[in-house]
Amino acid sequence: MNQFFAGAALIAAIATSGCAHAVDPELARAISAIKAIDNHAHPVRPTAPGDKVDDEFDALPVDSLEAQSDPIRQRGKSPIVTAAHTQLYGSGTKADVMKAHPSDYATWVLDRAGIETMVANRVAMGPGLPAPRFLFVPFADALMFPLGTAQLIKNPDQRAFYPLEDKLLQRYYTESGVPGKPATLGEYLAKVVTATLERHKKSGALAEKYELAYLRTLAIGNPTRAEAERAYSGSTGGGDYTALQDYIFRYIALECGRLGMGVHIHVAHGGGGYFNTSWANPMLLEPLLNDPALRKTNFVMIHGGWPWTREITPLLTKPNAYLDYSEQLSFDTPHNVAEALRGWLAYVPEKVLFATDAYPFSADLGWEEAAVVASNASREALGRALTAMMRDGEITRERAVELATMVMRDNARKLYGLK
Ligand SMILES: [Zn+2]
Repeated sequence: MNQFFAGAALIAAIATSGCAHAVDPELARAISAIKAIDNHAHPVRPTAPGDKVDDEFDALPVDSLEAQSDPIRQRGKSPIVTAAHTQLYGSGTKADVMKAHPSDYATWVLDRAGIETMVANRVAMGPGLPAPRFLFVPFADALMFPLGTAQLIKNPDQRAFYPLEDKLLQRYYTESGVPGKPATLGEYLAKVVTATLERHKKSGALAEKYELAYLRTLAIGNPTRAEAERAYSGSTGGGDYTALQDYIFRYIALECGRLGMGVHIHVAHGGGGYFNTSWANPMLLEPLLNDPALRKTNFVMIHGGWPWTREITPLLTKPNAYLDYSEQLSFDTPHNVAEALRGWLAYVPEKVLFATDAYPFSADLGWEEAAVVASNASREALGRALTAMMRDGEITRERAVELATMVMRDNARKLYGLK
């Protein structure tokens, strides 16, 4: 299949799915042709049979969790997944295509999905995911837990997740050339935290990512340095570990601003049957967004705050607040997501970013199929929102195309200073 065929498949997917007239056909054509910047995804490095399988696509992979009641759209063998497989591989197999593209498989996938640049949220990059088609966003959560995590585990999902943060912090110690936990908080911040952030920045990182809502509440306090120091060195157990975590979070946010990196935060319901949804409420971030000291740091609320997609809207007026609408379309319909999008586009449209959250969910739904499913469905949701605004006389078709281009690529381009 050539590039044109992939484009045609996208148009067909947008214009014919659901209600026949949900998306203005001319607008659908324009949206399908936009080469997107995908703000958030987890691409997997292509490896040859026999090689070590890539496990760095996420710091907290959800496949290690107890079973939950999966939303219908995420269950295997769904028609949208089968259609995505066909859009990618035709009647062939994934293995055949990987063999035919030994050096450019991952970028070949991006071409099929209409994605020019995929921002890869990974522990590390590596061969097979070349810049500038793939850009890097590493994880910062582990840096918040210098006192270990065993004492924080309250349920089976946390038992799966927290030790992975210990492991990642150990990796950051090693990469920073530090043998173990430094004696003082000052040393820890300079020699481990700043060293890690600067290393990430040097390797091309656009932002640091937090999966914090899987571990604890997003309500970040504003403790004093003395409180943080007491907790860091408190062998008597008298210190407040949460205060220390909050202090480190704010330190990292400040450093990201200094280094010109954004802060990405998972803000939405998440995977696993023990996920504490109320910890992920976007309104919990308001004190951070309202902190004058942090105004030089751009925060991107990953996944658009579902189910608080209305409540998140006023936060877009903060000059340093952005959101993407990744993940939502993996469990919700374009019709429903279009309603949320419409609210944001009518309010502060230059803060809204397209993203796929392409993830290796299962053998059937790899990151490749997930990228195609999300690319098609996200474009459809965007088309539906803009068509409704056109029909209500709020915008012209010309403005609709302009808004679509902003969401699909230009807003991200400006945010990260990409060409
Ligand atoms: Zn993600």
